[in-house]
Amino acid sequence: MRVGVGREQCDGERRVAATPETVHELAALGLEIFVERGAGAQAGYPDEAFKEAGAAITAELVLESVDVLLHVRPFTPDAAASLRPGTITIGFASPGSELPTVRALAEAGVTSFAMELIPRISRAQSMDALSSQSLVSGYRAVLEAAVRYPRFFPLYMTAAGTIPPARVLVLGAGVAGLQAIGTAKRLGARVSANDVRAASADEVASMGGTFINLDLDAAAEGPGGYARELGEDRAQRQRGLLAPHVAATDVLITTAAIPGRAAPLLVTTDMVAGMRAGSVVVDLAAESGGNVEGIIAGQDVQLPVVGGFVTLVGMKDAASAMPSDASRLYARNVSNLLALMTADGRATPDFDDEVISGACLTCDGTVRHPATAAALA
Ligand code: NAD
Repeated sequence: MRVGVGREQCDGERRVAATPETVHELAALGLEIFVERGAGAQAGYPDEAFKEAGAAITAELVLESVDVLLHVRPFTPDAAASLRPGTITIGFASPGSELPTVRALAEAGVTSFAMELIPRISRAQSMDALSSQSLVSGYRAVLEAAVRYPRFFPLYMTAAGTIPPARVLVLGAGVAGLQAIGTAKRLGARVSANDVRAASADEVASMGGTFINLDLDAAAEGPGGYARELGEDRAQRQRGLLAPHVAATDVLITTAAIPGRAAPLLVTTDMVAGMRAGSVVVDLAAESGGNVEGIIAGQDVQLPVVGGFVTLVGMKDAASAMPSDASRLYARNVSNLLALMTADGRATPDFDDEVISGACLTCDGTVRHPATAAALA
């Protein structure tokens, strides 16, 4: 079977859906791999390395000629419509927001697998691209903050005086938040964090952070261990209780998300106005509406406060900013899913497997993912 890996078409996307390492493994399964010229160039994987691993390099990837297509970003509706019936696609599909593409995939008879839909179960951890890319984003968010923060993160006791450690507050302690806590700790900051899930207190402590218990009555936990949206009353109460913690912090990293919903608003402009000049706020949820009022995805905004300003950083394409390792992890997630459905050199998905059926978005002309099918009805 012919497996294609194209150059990503989305502006600013530097990742690639395969690496020489995964090409080698997929070729060993009897698959033929075709990599579009330059597909891995921005991630640090040159054509030569793909060739040595067993791939054929093509000037242009002809979509109709491949049986399986590996990708990072969702297709455009036009690209989806140009696929041959029966083509298998594996990659991020953003089913919550890219409904025209989902419709086009179904109408084209494509069997599409969305990496966002991989079940969050132990057996599927090696395919969990949301986790692997959140790991990269959480790490990167702290570095973005550190380069903008006009002071040190660690404590320094020097002959010229003592410099206190930076205080870092992380709101949302899921995969990205926990990585942010670990990274800020490694840089020597004093880190605290809050989340609405019951399990998060222990997880924050295991990364060396101090959990801030807001006493919000009950943990807001929904299906699959994800957070549930707070009602407006509790959301307001949460903001009120967070305000003094935000005012006392030097660096604020926000990562809070609710699957399928806009990001919850955790920090208002008034709360930012209480921070001291020079403080930095990095919002990893900026692309889905933002946890911080006034945030703009892909931009820095300087909010005037007494004595200077606070820098608001709207993170965009955070994982793509570290394309080499982000691709290494992502390509492994994708290749593990493809390997799970491959036998004797052929990809033949077994829909009795809960990982395969859970990740399937479209098949045989229909949208198989119930929530997306309902949104399109
Ligand atoms: P996510 O990206 O959907 O959300 C990020 C975090 O924001 C979550 O921890 C969530 O609780 C938090 N949040 C939402 N609303 C909030 C609010 N109002 N205030 C503060 N925080 C808020 O989540 P994620 O990082 O993808 O992971 C969510 C859960 O899935 C976690 O329990 C994680 O441990 C679990 N998980 C399990 C597996 C697995 O078993 N294979 C893999 C990855 C993650």
